[in-house]
Amino acid sequence: MSNQEQNKFLDISVQFVKGIGEKRAQALNNAGIFTIRDLLQYYPRRYLDRSNITVIRDLKMNDLVTVVGTVQACGVQRGRKARFVLMLSDNTGRLNCVWFNQIPYWEKKFKPGQIVAVSGKIGYFGGFQMVHPEFDILSDDEEVSMANFYNTGQIIPIYSSSEALSRVGLDSRGFRRILNHLVKNYLSRIDETLPKRILSQMKLLPLQEALRNIHFPGNLTLLKEARRRLKFEEFFLLEFLLAYRKKKIIEQEQGIAFPDIGDRVYQLAEKLPFKLTPAQRKVLQEIWSDMKKPHPMYRLIQGDVGSGKTIIALIAMLLAVENGYQAALMAPTEILAEQHYLTFKKWLAELDIHVELLVGAQKVAEREEILKNIVSGKCHIVIGTHALIQEHVKFANLGLIVIDEQHRFGVAQRADLKQKGANPDVLVMTATPIPRTLSLTLYGDLDISVIDELPEGRKPIITSWRYSDKRKEIYKFVKSHIDAGAQAYIVFPLVEESEKLDLKAATESYEVLQNTIFKGNSMALLHGRMKNDEKEAVMAAFKDGEIQILVSTTVIEVGVDVPNASIMVIENAERFGLTQLHQLRGRVGRGEKQSYCILIAKKPASEEALTRLTTMASTNDGFKIAEVDLQLRGPGEFLGTRQHGLPEFKIANPLKDGKLLQDARKIAFACMENENDLNFLLQAVKKISFYQQFKHNLSLMRIG
Ligand code: ADP
Ligand code: MG
Repeated sequence: MSNQEQNKFLDISVQFVKGIGEKRAQALNNAGIFTIRDLLQYYPRRYLDRSNITVIRDLKMNDLVTVVGTVQACGVQRGRKARFVLMLSDNTGRLNCVWFNQIPYWEKKFKPGQIVAVSGKIGYFGGFQMVHPEFDILSDDEEVSMANFYNTGQIIPIYSSSEALSRVGLDSRGFRRILNHLVKNYLSRIDETLPKRILSQMKLLPLQEALRNIHFPGNLTLLKEARRRLKFEEFFLLEFLLAYRKKKIIEQEQGIAFPDIGDRVYQLAEKLPFKLTPAQRKVLQEIWSDMKKPHPMYRLIQGDVGSGKTIIALIAMLLAVENGYQAALMAPTEILAEQHYLTFKKWLAELDIHVELLVGAQKVAEREEILKNIVSGKCHIVIGTHALIQEHVKFANLGLIVIDEQHRFGVAQRADLKQKGANPDVLVMTATPIPRTLSLTLYGDLDISVIDELPEGRKPIITSWRYSDKRKEIYKFVKSHIDAGAQAYIVFPLVEESEKLDLKAATESYEVLQNTIFKGNSMALLHGRMKNDEKEAVMAAFKDGEIQILVSTTVIEVGVDVPNASIMVIENAERFGLTQLHQLRGRVGRGEKQSYCILIAKKPASEEALTRLTTMASTNDGFKIAEVDLQLRGPGEFLGTRQHGLPEFKIANPLKDGKLLQDARKIAFACMENENDLNFLLQAVKKISFYQQFKHNLSLMRIG
């Protein structure tokens, strides 16, 4: 069959499949199943076989089990409360299943002689029973019989259903029938999606065999192989698209080449008060090798808090300037933009580089002047917040953009900044370490550089958590360090929904602390509602050591760098997410002093909060923390809706199938060099609507 016809066949509406009429088609559509392809990809939720069912003789109280038996009798029992009872027998004993509601529905559903699988918790009421079990009627299915089940080791697929689907006969059994029909009659019409070479290299089942065995496994080994093949395919086609997009960028997109290192880069290197770490040097090398090329750079720098990303950005930007271009850095908060501005000014002072700051809160005249300098090209480097992407900001020749704490920005904002230049190079930085397997799917088309070590001489931060009844001792401890010359942050939570209350709590606590334990110490309060110059003044005074204790809301969460500050107290720590706690803690441990982070939690803290607190106390490793956070929240939440561009995998799981994902990626990228594979795969990808959908997400995700 030609591709064209095959395409048509898989795209046939479910309505035309034998056994599915208009009503069922409607219910399927509502559940997101439109075509034959969707049906074939409606993989079983689980399977029944001898190995995962329990015989009635072996039941124990409170066990969670699946039992398969024949309906001996069923009917309504009237009593204090009417119930529907289903009596099952499996030759080793009897089990009652009980439903208390929708009795007429159950009366219609069950009849003696049926073979039924039930799953649930074993209770006791004059004998073992299950209340409101999950069930699946197995009989009337072709070839399912108790004898088969026990003697031949038959494996039966169980499909998810819903009330709406069940109502039109599409319970698990209904799906089984339809898929049985499809697999029996149409499988031979489905073309292979992967090149033969890859099938044999990875020892994968052909697609037809995989589909047959995922729905009706010949045996457990074949089932495993089927799953592996289908997972691989999902990963592979995704990675193929990522690789292909990357190839296109490299081959076709015209960008800017920055061929010269320039004297001032060397001058800066000499001036630096520290030596770059090997990891920083490696990353710079990677950036430099991108920047030399006449194609746009798309590079992500991952580096834990405090690993020294700013200086990397600075050097890259200086490189752009040395080649006659402007560079811009966008940061998520004004405090951070301001701080970067001061750092850049300090390091670039003697190099005759013109640096400007552009944030929302500047006076009109000042802003006019800055904008003029940017558009005329007088200004070489601009640091700013999202004020940078406003329409009236125009550059003379923007060659490089850097986005700090990129996870704080939306895709559109990153793209908007890129539009300010003619295909400038793009560098995005993040301290949220995304586990590698996830970054392969999320950022698979970006080049990734990792700063995997901290500067020398940093001592691991000592972290502990206490309930608030220990607050007094904690602050005594803080006081003793302050009096010995340390500086501290005390952080209060502030969330949008309860902003007013939170701010009030922080302000009141600030006053109490100032008038009691920290009487005589210099303190200041910092929050987002303060005027810009007030914020600036406070930050500057804290940086200069004039302020010993900074009481703050989460405005200092990202990026703030005051190396002498070595103590962090976080109040109401149970309210913070894990990644957020880690970011906050990253404000200390930036110098040579031993640093401490103390988390104060209100009693009682939830189970999940306890996990967060103990995780924080047990490790400083951002990657480990991210893994736990990911497990607690799941990928969608963890990544946030803003940049959630992940495809919905039907069967693969990037967290669990990491090895397969990496294999898929390697092979997909290698295919770019092979004309035959490439053409074959481009044909294959076109046919799969799931990837069409993802292609759309890709262009949203991309940095411009
Ligand atoms: P982050 O990666 O969290 O953005 P920063 O760039 O703010 O980290 O750097 C943290 C601190 O470490 C800064 O004070 C910076 O000057 C300093 N720093 C950066 N690189 C080095 C290095 N190689 N050796 C010593 N200190 C460094
Ligand atoms: Mg930073």
